[in-house]
Amino acid sequence: MELKKLIQTDRQYYMNVFGDRFPVEFVRGKGAYLWDSTGKKYCDFLAGIAVNLFGYSDSGLVQTIQNQAANMLHTSNYFYVAPQAKAAKLLCKLSGMDKVFFSNSGAEAMEGAIKLARKYFYDKGQEKYEFITMKQSFHGRTLATLSATGQQHFQAPYHPLVPAFIHVPFNDLSAARDAVTKKTAGIIVEPIQGEGGVVPATSEFLQGIRDLCDEKGLLMIADEIQSGMGRTGTFLACQGYGVQPDIVTLAKALGGGIPIGAFAAKDSVAQAFAPSDHGSTFGGNHLATAAAEYVLTRIDQSDILNRVQQTGAYFQSSLEKLADQFPGQISGTRGKGLMQSLQLNGDIPAKKMLGKLLDRGFVVGSAGGNSLRFLPPYIVAEDQIDALYTCIADILKEIG
Ligand SMILES: *Cc1c(COP(=O)(O)O)cnc(C)c1O
Repeated sequence: MELKKLIQTDRQYYMNVFGDRFPVEFVRGKGAYLWDSTGKKYCDFLAGIAVNLFGYSDSGLVQTIQNQAANMLHTSNYFYVAPQAKAAKLLCKLSGMDKVFFSNSGAEAMEGAIKLARKYFYDKGQEKYEFITMKQSFHGRTLATLSATGQQHFQAPYHPLVPAFIHVPFNDLSAARDAVTKKTAGIIVEPIQGEGGVVPATSEFLQGIRDLCDEKGLLMIADEIQSGMGRTGTFLACQGYGVQPDIVTLAKALGGGIPIGAFAAKDSVAQAFAPSDHGSTFGGNHLATAAAEYVLTRIDQSDILNRVQQTGAYFQSSLEKLADQFPGQISGTRGKGLMQSLQLNGDIPAKKMLGKLLDRGFVVGSAGGNSLRFLPPYIVAEDQIDALYTCIADILKEIG
């Protein structure tokens, strides 16, 4: 289908929640490169929003999916599923957790985490069902995860929301402490806020949340749907802070591009779920968990997380150099590993920068406020980072 026709058909038949998309259709990818339907080549610094961790057409992942599809796509969770068990074991090993449940998306993983925390206190006969969550957070688009999300513009049309989510400012430990009541079940936190603008928690804050949960008998729920799976250089971003949550959620990169999410917990919490307390038709099926098993095995057995640390440090210093060079147009940089951002000065809209970068063959994202967000595949190379640097510098010189 020709691009013009595609855009027309999309406008006519697809619900308009994505507004005017960038007028590009990507049809092929290899490594960190993408090609659009006109044959134009791009370097990818978005990875499908932190999904395609090994880039495009990774031969091992493609082989795994093809083999699994040829043998078995799906049975049902009435029966045992080998890749599900193997992926669960690997996920526990890498995350330091004891038990896992696989969902189809990040929002569903968060829903499961919320239900597990409520069930945990229900079993204890304690009336604790409230959650403290952070302003500027993002936890998903279902009604409960939308209610957990600390951004009113997402919530406004959907009232009444699910009650019992209390929002406090991020990185403000005393506000979190003050919000604890007799009804509090847990604190939900992204160690690095993604959609909110790539804002890392301070060490004092994240450790303080852990300590507060221990002191008050609350569950710490880390939403690592974006920051997890090695993106910041440790399997969980929390591990980089030396903090172990009670429940963690993952999704985005977990299947390398196949839709799958997960929540994992320590045994003491996970045992709250008994038969029929939770479930899913598709969640954890053969195809999705075969992909996750492949991704997790590769993270476990290769040095890819070292690579993320090294390339991430190089990328960060390159962005800091840009900020030094263009103090009038860039107000700062934030991030960790390969989850990075540049804060643009108010009069350069991020969307305009994204369009200019796309014209010149770079795929970049945006996030909260006015930030460019960079989530490249873990295989991104230093010369690709150098090329991006030059491209951003050229654009800033032009519009400066
Ligand atoms: C993307 C994201 C979600 C939602 O995941 P979906 O798969 O889109 O449902 C939740 N939390 C965080 C931190 C995310 O980045």
